[in-house]
Amino acid sequence: MDKKTLKHFEKLLLDKRAELQSAYRDKLSRSGDAGADGALDSADEASANYNKEFWYSLSDADRKVMRRIDEALRVIATEGGYGECVHCGKPIQRKRLEAVPWARHCLECQDLQERGLIE
Ligand SMILES: [Zn+2]
Repeated sequence: MDKKTLKHFEKLLLDKRAELQSAYRDKLSRSGDAGADGALDSADEASANYNKEFWYSLSDADRKVMRRIDEALRVIATEGGYGECVHCGKPIQRKRLEAVPWARHCLECQDLQERGLIE
């Protein structure tokens, strides 16, 4: 994957992460608790350490997405084969990455995984 394409997916990942974080900020401002806002800003760094309140505010699914996003960003940062299926090593379909940039499996392996046949 060339640098330009990597940048493109990096942006998608960062956008999604920002989206999850701003949903949390909205929730905070609605509840009138602005105190944690400053702490959350540090989570914008690439090597994010999320504050506990933010982390617990996420649903299980979102938490999983956040972990995957961080993983994918790390892979991009180290140029360690982003976009390759962790199971079979083949490139993950471009269309799939556009929809789910934090995907770890290609479609075939995703199917196997959903049926519990692989990790
Ligand atoms: Zn695969």
